[in-house]
Amino acid sequence: MQGSLAHDEVVRTNSAELSPIDSLELREIRLPLVSPSETSLGVERENQALLVILRKGGITGYGECVAGIDRWFNEETIASAKYTIQTYLAPILFGQHMTTPSAFIALTKGIRGNNMAVACVEMALWDVLGKMEDTSLSKLLGGKKEEVEVGVGVGLQSSPAKLVGAVDSYLKEGYGRIKVKIKPSYDVEYVRAIRKAFPDIKLQVDANSAYTLDDAKHLKRLDEFNLLLIEQPLGHDDLVDHARLQKELSTPLCLDESIRAPEDARKALEIGACKIINIKAGRVRGLQRSKEIHDLCMKLRVPVWCGGMLETGIGRAFNVALASLPGFTLPGDTSASKRYFKRDIITMEFALTTRSTLPVPDGPGIGVEVDSEALDAVTVSRTTVKNESLH
Ligand code: MG
Repeated sequence: MQGSLAHDEVVRTNSAELSPIDSLELREIRLPLVSPSETSLGVERENQALLVILRKGGITGYGECVAGIDRWFNEETIASAKYTIQTYLAPILFGQHMTTPSAFIALTKGIRGNNMAVACVEMALWDVLGKMEDTSLSKLLGGKKEEVEVGVGVGLQSSPAKLVGAVDSYLKEGYGRIKVKIKPSYDVEYVRAIRKAFPDIKLQVDANSAYTLDDAKHLKRLDEFNLLLIEQPLGHDDLVDHARLQKELSTPLCLDESIRAPEDARKALEIGACKIINIKAGRVRGLQRSKEIHDLCMKLRVPVWCGGMLETGIGRAFNVALASLPGFTLPGDTSASKRYFKRDIITMEFALTTRSTLPVPDGPGIGVEVDSEALDAVTVSRTTVKNESLH
């Protein structure tokens, strides 16, 4: 039954087999961003991404790898993901029999880490499965919503006044929740300026691990601004210090980078390292694991929301489908397409509604069509791996 997906198995609506997959294509693309994105870790001016394109009969399934060109968010890069997919994941995909994307995840058990590489193949398999079964990804996952609430992330700005100006323009575009990046010296006064200008907006901050526990007293000053949450203030792989910090603060902490698996979520919640979790499918090895974290959090009444990694329309479609699950009760970071790109690689545009939501596609699989001309225009490399057992 939809909505009651067991941990290791997708309930199938017919008996079609996911295996064999005919071929896997890797495409590196480079898409200029509308405005540069600055975090405590650096500036990004374009989105470089790796797409996985699976072909099976007449069906094409897409996956988008969210690893960056550099090791900023975690240890994976586009180059490492490409290597991992070609060397380790393609042989599993072609050499093993599988009926569900979850079975693929089980077969990758021997490959430690490399979650973003594994996730993009798994996600492409979900797209193939949805298209085979003429069912939307949202429905396959147990999604309940027809639209999902979204907010927008604002990068670091050079002055509080500039930040207030940027926030103002996003509010005018219709965003109902604002997230701002912070780092030491770009925090309390910046947030104070926003609160002064907009006392009632939904506001949260993301530090991308820019602080240590020595900053606890300083971070406590953020408590007066009625923030929805403070995201990942401490170490990218830390749980224990976050638990100590959470005891000092009344604002809920939210973990992003530290949560790479359902087990991390369980441990974090058990020791009180956070009260909210940001789920990114790429970071946690795909949609099956995302669903497991979501289910755990729902059971424990812990809110989750869907983070963003500057995805193209393909990755955005996956995020929107994931965020349609009922436990995603906070607005996600999956903003409208035009926030990121002048020309996306899908034919439709994810446009913001007047309710600060994006519609959940209801077509088969990810429910969006790839604009092959636009995709070709931004492609910088292509490699196809064929399933040799079929050729
Ligand atoms: Mg974050």
